[in-house]
Amino acid sequence: MTFSELGLNEELLMGLEALGFETPTPIQQEAIPVLLEGERDLVALAQTGTGKTAGFGLPMLQNTEPGYMKPQSIVLSPTRELGNQIADDLRNFSKSMKGIKIVSVYGGANISTQIKELKKGCNIIVATPGRLVDLIKRGVAKLEEIDRVVLDEADEMLNMGFKDDLDFILDQTPPTKTTWLFSATMAKEVERIARNYMADPFKITVGRQNEGGKNIDHKFYLVQNRHRFAALKRIVDVNPDIFGLIFCRTKRDTQEISDRLIAEGYNVDALHGDLSQHQRDRVMDKFRERKIQLLCATDVAARGIDVNDITHVINYELPEDIESYTHRSGRTARAGKKGESLAIITDRDKYKIKRIEKIIQKKFTQAKVPSGDVVCESQLFKLIAEVKSAQIIEQEFEKYRERVFDELQEFSREELIEHFISKDFNRFIEYYKDSDDINASGRDRGNDRRDRGRDRDRRRGDRDRGRDRSSSRDRGGRRGAEAGFKTIFVNVGSSDGLNKGGLIDFVCTNSDVKGRVIGQIRMNEKFSFIEVEERSSDKILKALQGSNHDGRSLRAEFAKPRK
Ligand code: AMP
Repeated sequence: MTFSELGLNEELLMGLEALGFETPTPIQQEAIPVLLEGERDLVALAQTGTGKTAGFGLPMLQNTEPGYMKPQSIVLSPTRELGNQIADDLRNFSKSMKGIKIVSVYGGANISTQIKELKKGCNIIVATPGRLVDLIKRGVAKLEEIDRVVLDEADEMLNMGFKDDLDFILDQTPPTKTTWLFSATMAKEVERIARNYMADPFKITVGRQNEGGKNIDHKFYLVQNRHRFAALKRIVDVNPDIFGLIFCRTKRDTQEISDRLIAEGYNVDALHGDLSQHQRDRVMDKFRERKIQLLCATDVAARGIDVNDITHVINYELPEDIESYTHRSGRTARAGKKGESLAIITDRDKYKIKRIEKIIQKKFTQAKVPSGDVVCESQLFKLIAEVKSAQIIEQEFEKYRERVFDELQEFSREELIEHFISKDFNRFIEYYKDSDDINASGRDRGNDRRDRGRDRDRRRGDRDRGRDRSSSRDRGGRRGAEAGFKTIFVNVGSSDGLNKGGLIDFVCTNSDVKGRVIGQIRMNEKFSFIEVEERSSDKILKALQGSNHDGRSLRAEFAKPRK
């Protein structure tokens, strides 16, 4: 099937041709004809990477009245990054159309510039929900002529606490509008929106519901916590051509892992919410242009990232909310390519793997952290491939030829090869000589206990065991904290727009501790229980007591032990 068979007009077809889009993706084949007819709500379960932006963007553009500068369409997206990407895509699709003006508005940027843009007039607004609410309340964003509202990554917007904003925006738009909802998962709240705001929506599911991407291989590596970083390095080293995203749980962990990798000579940078927007844009540009090979990111910062050809997503730790796994892994294997989603886990995370498998309806395979020999071999052959494909700039080389040959004439051909290879390769041999097998096995726990006195990382090892037990028995929330941990009660929960990852970040930022001192979290709507290492517990409690979340002062106290 071709795009023109779907009923798209000449101008859009020209835009698509310029982009090199030849065949519509499945979601485009299903959505475009239905949405072109108009006046139909739509619920599409689709991951990023399926081509959904063109799925809604093309019919939206075709049904927009060119030259009529009153907003007719709104696209809501969870983050500025995704919003800008959508706006860019729409501009590219409509390059040959006249009279289309797209304005994107988002939080964290100067509102007066955005007000000016809106006042100049436009027919499409791409927005993050919070900022659009602000602009509606200021009377600048006028919605009375809106024909359609797109909710992109609806589950993410709800996860991020935009529920009230979405309700407000949908209530402000005319009842005659149509609503097109895109979501990777059909969470309860997404269903609620579909129920409350849509009439007999057309439903599309691309792939199976919640499928973790057909072309993604999911693998996990089982290690002890203290070997997590070493495992990460081996995974990266054994894949010399990796172009990957590394996910950590908190902003601090993200920065720390990135700093450690940089210190060891890796080409990596960090992306998280503590960076200014300008810094984040710069990091993203570098990553897109492949000036960095690895990007360490938090879930929030990486939302909506659409970078083609990411080969590997590495879960340095699995996300606290396992639903986020789908969003992480969806960053690879885009546009029909293949990709790997890897998780470095400890024994206590095994139950999470089982739960994720249910969500993605796919099995993980257990992979072995490669031995030093395997890593060295793969680096060696990468080096040889590079030597073979090196381009020789004849003219420039000519100047040095004689001296170079003179200097090297003492070597035989074999010696010369050995010297050139050794120059770059020795550091791997050095690093990996005598390296241990760091795959965890049943016996490791015993060894770990015996080694306790000697272990440099004793504190972390102890905690790991503490969490091993707490995670397997405490999940039902029926027991107190394990030895070495204390439980803190705080009066914020999911209705405050927090998820577990967000709460960990909040605790770390406010009390100046690292993510690893935090154990299990149980979260209810209005309150949460946070397990923290005993030795840091007073400091954390004190910091939380004085803190403020979204203008609300926090109450924190040690939870009473359960009977
Ligand atoms: P999306 O799911 O909208 O984020 O799209 C994922 C990627 O696929 C983007 O880089 C698009 O540019 C690309 N893409 C979307 N539709 C097509 C198509 N029909 N042919 C080729 N590439 C596409």
